[in-house]
Amino acid sequence: MDFELTKSQIEIQKAARNFAKGEFDKDLALELEKKHEFPTKIWKKAAELGFIGIHFDEKYSGQGLGVIENIIVAEELCARDSTIGACLLLAGFASECLLRFASEEIKLKFLPLVAEGKTLSAGAFTEPDHGSDITSMNTTAVRDGNEWVVNGTKTFITNGCLAGFFTVLCQTDPDARPSYRGISMILVEADRKGVTATDIGDKMGIRMMSTAEVNFKEVRVPLTNLIGKEGKGFYQVLEFFDESRILIAAQALGTAQGAFDRALAYVKQREQFGKKLAEFQITQHKLADMATKIELARLITYKAAWNYDKGNIDPKLTSMAKMYAARTAVEVADEAIQLLGGYGYMAEYEVERFYRDAKITEIYEGTKEIQKNTIASAVLGKFK
Ligand SMILES: Cc1cc2nc3c(=O)[nH]c(=O)nc-3n(C[C@H](O)[C@H](O)[C@H](O)COP(=O)(O)OP(=O)(O)OC[C@H]3O[C@@H](n4cnc5c(N)ncnc54)[C@H](O)[C@@H]3O)c2cc1C
Repeated sequence: MDFELTKSQIEIQKAARNFAKGEFDKDLALELEKKHEFPTKIWKKAAELGFIGIHFDEKYSGQGLGVIENIIVAEELCARDSTIGACLLLAGFASECLLRFASEEIKLKFLPLVAEGKTLSAGAFTEPDHGSDITSMNTTAVRDGNEWVVNGTKTFITNGCLAGFFTVLCQTDPDARPSYRGISMILVEADRKGVTATDIGDKMGIRMMSTAEVNFKEVRVPLTNLIGKEGKGFYQVLEFFDESRILIAAQALGTAQGAFDRALAYVKQREQFGKKLAEFQITQHKLADMATKIELARLITYKAAWNYDKGNIDPKLTSMAKMYAARTAVEVADEAIQLLGGYGYMAEYEVERFYRDAKITEIYEGTKEIQKNTIASAVLGKFK
């Protein structure tokens, strides 16, 4: 057993930390959050330095590294700033569907655009009537000559108004039973005729990110835009979740660490009743609990990534990591606000934003209840 990061992983961690320290700025973050604006300049710079698509092969402009390196970067960026970090780690959202399943032609065309910071990507799975349950889709894709004709509406799509392309889950065989055997993944470029994206509006956290409803009306794409195999879209998205949920766990972990760091610094300097807050035993116990939860979240998240990179893909462990790290982020950020008292409630002190940003990690990429379903079915096995 070896819990150490390699030398090169430590270098990547330092590089990500230094990048975030140099480029992320509290005032800029407050301004971007207020304007609901994506941190475009920082994203471009992160791509230039190789932080986007670090896990893509070099031929797709990546660094040829693994999920571990990707989560090391995600943790560092989110610890520095929970919103800017989330924007960067999801800049290439769902491009792993291309990486793992698409034709070489599609990979060579689209993955370099993502890694080089020329386009954002989006995964369009959720529909107004299909959230946790994606075993059937109302969005359809029908063959017509050499093309697919896509019709339907997707909702809550991250990067929706900014992305250059969407990975869309479509029902390609409406007669398939069970219905998920008739779902396929199709790449739809955002500039195709009939694609419209509308921002859904104000939301609790991750406010620099676009969250959109995306409508596909008689959208024609070539048959070669099929990602992976026809009728395998449902299975492919589940495999994608095995990877992407580890990244969300890292987002949560970084968010928890960032909230903790701020609370720790605060209690060492704030005095009440003639003492530093850090001198009260209750403060010390809160810090001990927070630090322990973060350490556990880190262990399970890194273990899930390490397993994934070794080819031991384990949906149970991935779901445990996402569920535990997400809960940790919410609890630690909540406690951080408490430790800062009234100041914790104010935007300038950042922890309230970390708290708002933490909550989404318990919802997207499968809610905590859905993670529990995955864990429970793995531990129970067949029992009926
Ligand atoms: C900001 C944001 C960004 C998002 N980004 C994307 C994106 O980029 N792409 C995308 O496709 N989707 C995205 N989503 C959608 C997200 O993945 C869904 O919101 C989530 O999967 C839950 O679906 P739902 O909202 O329809 O809730 P529902 O599925 O209706 O669930 C409502 C409640 O019921 C519970 N529930 C449902 N089924 C079960 C069950 N079987 N057992 C126990 N409890 C259950 C849920 O856990 C939840 O608590 C995003 C959502 C948000 C808010």
